[in-house]
Amino acid sequence: PVASTAREVPPSGAAVKAADRAHVFHSWSAQGLIDPLPIAGAEGSYFWDYDGNRYLDFSSQLVNTNIGHQHPKVVAAIQEQAGKLCTLAPGFAVDVRSEAARLIAERTPGDLDKIFFTNGGAEAVENAVRMARLHTGRPKVLSTYRSYHGATAAAINLTGDPRRWPSDNASAGVVHFWGPFLYRSPFHAENEAQECERALAHLEQTIAFEGPQSIAAIILETIPGTAGIMTPPPGYLAGVREICDRHGIVFVLDEVMAGFGRTGHWFAADHFGVTPDLLTFAKGVNSGYVPLGGVAISAEIAATFDQRPYPGGLTYSGHPLACASAVATINAMAEERIVENAAEIGAKVIGPALREIAERHPSVGEVRGLGVFWALDLVRNKETREPLVPYNAAGADNAPMAEFAAACKRGGLWPFVNMNRTHVVPACTITEAEAKEGLAALDAALTVADAHT
Ligand code: PMP
Repeated sequence: PVASTAREVPPSGAAVKAADRAHVFHSWSAQGLIDPLPIAGAEGSYFWDYDGNRYLDFSSQLVNTNIGHQHPKVVAAIQEQAGKLCTLAPGFAVDVRSEAARLIAERTPGDLDKIFFTNGGAEAVENAVRMARLHTGRPKVLSTYRSYHGATAAAINLTGDPRRWPSDNASAGVVHFWGPFLYRSPFHAENEAQECERALAHLEQTIAFEGPQSIAAIILETIPGTAGIMTPPPGYLAGVREICDRHGIVFVLDEVMAGFGRTGHWFAADHFGVTPDLLTFAKGVNSGYVPLGGVAISAEIAATFDQRPYPGGLTYSGHPLACASAVATINAMAEERIVENAAEIGAKVIGPALREIAERHPSVGEVRGLGVFWALDLVRNKETREPLVPYNAAGADNAPMAEFAAACKRGGLWPFVNMNRTHVVPACTITEAEAKEGLAALDAALTVADAHT
């Protein structure tokens, strides 16, 4: 029996946390071991708790709040749409959905002019894989180790990090290969040109042994994000494009994390002049204010489903509130030069500062990135490049990274920490003053990591 039917307004962070622990089952967590921070509010590059502690958000949550928290134009657009039309089945024509699709199609590279909407990134990956399989009539999909593509059946199986292990074989036909990453080269290469050449040869060989006629798609993150912001060497993506064309394989670029301004262009593919056949997006499309993602589809693949139905879609595909927030987000990003801001802050402030920080701290092995998309690879030894914590470290083994993250938080900085890396992935709207404040806090916290070198 429930004692009271009235919903009590939690008066404090402690009450919010107690209510959370009573009934919320958290993602990716051992329920008995977590201590979620109760959050009272957020604005721009900051969020704060109930005790007056404010954090500069260098994580953009899960690298999604590209436009910052509570952008007034996006909040207003959601409110306005809620007053007009909250929900409608995907089969109807809706003004905000068509407008969101137009604004996205205008910005995606090449002829990726048809937009299939989803509720997030993993679902976009699921549908890209399905489209590729139906388009080619082939079963297999190739993806890289050191990647993240989402937590649903095919998406988690395509993922090349340890989160895949408990769900392995959720989807048949997935084959992993190594992408390029010079700092920890799988090919023992000494320079970028060699890394590129050897990575392409390795992919060719993988295809030859798997059977080109059985491969529907190759899916890559344009710049792998969660796995360490590993910008591919010049020529690599163009090489994969050529290999796909030669074998009739669909080329999928996953821009769920790298898209919508994060790298200082609308899409990371713009840096490389490469157009995939399918491009998945989510996160930055509307900064996650309402769940939204999608697949941008080439004319050729769209034509496959012109007279034959595409078998996929969910009740909320292209949800009006989500689409209204995407329209407002994209328009605000264009009007306020937010993508340009990401490029400039990265080139003039964050990049130079991180390189200077790396020189002073023995724990910083490499700095990689562009725009507002940076990673610091933390090491025990700069010479050997031994990671500060072992691959997939847990518990006591992960203590150096846990201590570093705690030091960031004590300094008012919310970091994005994964394995032996900390990522600097603030909002694309971040100002120079905010970036400097965060970089100073990061600089101070790195002394904690240095103690483990
Ligand atoms: N692809 C990439 C490249 C991602 O970074 C993510 C999320 N981090 C996903 C797919 C999955 O997106 P979602 O969590 O919205 O399902």
